[in-house]
Amino acid sequence: MKTKAAILRQCGQPMSIETIDIAPPQNNEVLVEVKASGICRSDLNSYFDPATPLPIILGHEGAGVVKALGKGVTHVKEGDHVALSWVPSCGNCFYCLKGTRQLCDTVAQHLFNGTLLDGTKRFTRDGTKIGHYSLISTFSNHTVVPAKSCVPIPQELPFEQACLLGCSVATGWGAARKAGNVQAGDHVAIFGSGGVGVAAIMGAKGARADKIIAIDRKLVNLENAYTSGATDSFLAPEANDKKSSQDLTAKIMKLTAGRGVDCAIDTTGHTAGFEGAWYATRKGGTIIVVGAYMAKTMSIPSTGFHQKAKTIKGCFYGDIDPYKDLQHLANLALQGELPLGSLIRRRVKFNELNDAMLALDDPKTCNMGRTVLTFD
Ligand SMILES: [Zn+2]
Ligand SMILES: [Zn+2]
Repeated sequence: MKTKAAILRQCGQPMSIETIDIAPPQNNEVLVEVKASGICRSDLNSYFDPATPLPIILGHEGAGVVKALGKGVTHVKEGDHVALSWVPSCGNCFYCLKGTRQLCDTVAQHLFNGTLLDGTKRFTRDGTKIGHYSLISTFSNHTVVPAKSCVPIPQELPFEQACLLGCSVATGWGAARKAGNVQAGDHVAIFGSGGVGVAAIMGAKGARADKIIAIDRKLVNLENAYTSGATDSFLAPEANDKKSSQDLTAKIMKLTAGRGVDCAIDTTGHTAGFEGAWYATRKGGTIIVVGAYMAKTMSIPSTGFHQKAKTIKGCFYGDIDPYKDLQHLANLALQGELPLGSLIRRRVKFNELNDAMLALDDPKTCNMGRTVLTFD
């Protein structure tokens, strides 16, 4: 069949909107009509990354309707509404069998090589194959995905909200609830109040944390943090401003009886955020690292490291079970505990997609909530 998609043909150059051919789903695959797709910073990173296999259809936060099933698919049927996960865990590898499906080795092999799980492609234009991105390529009106990427969701949940579940919301909520294990009465500091940070704030609020302290460089993001459940907020210092960093730590100490928070979550992607999180955390507390750092190293003092007994934990895909927990998150959204609508700042069509992607890099507009590509 034919469908319309945004194709990245040259690294860093505008994606072109083209009509392409899409082959039927093969064994354990599903054809999905994408109704909405979030635009994530990882899409922009791949847009500029010379290692991205081209041509390719980006997009990895999607929701839509099941249109056709390949052989062997039994857990969804035509017409089901689904949120898409870019971690369709295999269930058979070492990590899946250990119960850490988000670390699935089979997924890791294919995530960035431009194919589906069997190493082949379903998209073509004039006979030339076009690559898949993060196994789900949601910047396309129709996409073929691994069956396990399809997570059935209630029909009442709007697609523009459901699409956010599979990346930013899973990552942020899971950082607080799964990796950070935030409990009622805890004090939590969340560095960065973009899509992931705000989802972490919602997760901490849902756990009934006492203090939820948001830290960000932009006032507008802190306002968003408040409406999502933060109890306190501070402007983040500029990079290398040691005095302001110390002041920030002192303010957090003052709010937490001089101890520091039980859990600090860094969603900034900057090592300064990690360092802030380290100093903000009490003895025996936990630091969760979510952002992908570009810097090669990060530093914390070695003196007294053992006495402080802090845990530093990297967190991939929110430490969630990609299938079970996405369904739970969809239900939390319907119950009002995850007000996903408040994360959406802008809705765009295909003709605005390139501008919306580049806006993620513009200091004036980046981090100001999620932009959603819609197809109707
Ligand atoms: Zn993402
Ligand atoms: Zn696996």
